[in-house]
Amino acid sequence: ALSAASEENSEPLPSAAPRVPPPVSPADLRTLAESAAALLEDADAADVIAWARREFGSGLVVASSMADTHLVHLAQRVVPGIDVLFLDTGYHFAETIGTRDAVATVYDVNVVTMTPHQTVAEQALTYGPHLYQRDPDRCCALRKVEPLERGLAPYRAWITGMRREDAPTRAGMRVVEYDKARNKITVAPLARWTQQDVDAYVTRHQVLVNPLLYDGYTSVGCAPCTRRPSPGADPRSGRWVGSSKTECGLRQQPGGSER
Ligand code: SF4
Repeated sequence: ALSAASEENSEPLPSAAPRVPPPVSPADLRTLAESAAALLEDADAADVIAWARREFGSGLVVASSMADTHLVHLAQRVVPGIDVLFLDTGYHFAETIGTRDAVATVYDVNVVTMTPHQTVAEQALTYGPHLYQRDPDRCCALRKVEPLERGLAPYRAWITGMRREDAPTRAGMRVVEYDKARNKITVAPLARWTQQDVDAYVTRHQVLVNPLLYDGYTSVGCAPCTRRPSPGADPRSGRWVGSSKTECGLRQQPGGSER
């Protein structure tokens, strides 16, 4: 039935979509998340997205770092014209911005780019230069978390490309989670995917890929805070090297998104 649903729901979304979802009680959303997580634990990723489309309609968005273009590709196959949220921190590699532009041009998506309130130069005037070195939590809060909150506001649910094998902190994530802090639903259709699954999907569908992923990077974030990990190391070990920081704060407990 889930597979059939994904076929039925492949028509474009209506253009006159409501932009602010009506209130839903936290208890109702939590109950929905828990029942869906059990129902969809073994479902195909496309079927998970189809479920989310049925449940949330235009109140559904993909959050993409542009290191997870396989997720964007899959989402637009199931939901043509789906909104894709991209956080332009002002510190991205040129390759990441180029990937964003290519995705917006080639795929059937509506890329919504969110920017921080301050440019990098304005932030340096307010907080001093290189805040990412002195206080990366503050820098991420200003340049990632706040824009994400603003970007997510019109939506009831968001789709993330996070996978359980990304990091120990993600090992217990469920396919559908209630994001208590935001009172939203987090959908992680790729939670069970391995890197081999990602590679196979990319090859099969000739997905546009951020070139950095072919240049030794296994996790891509802002340029000042991303290094190539050592061979065989945790794929996210190249992030915030020299700091105890492992997540930028987008993933709350539970829920979130970033590769
Ligand atoms: Fe700032 Fe680094 Fe966080 Fe990017 S990843 S917002 S540069 S601390």
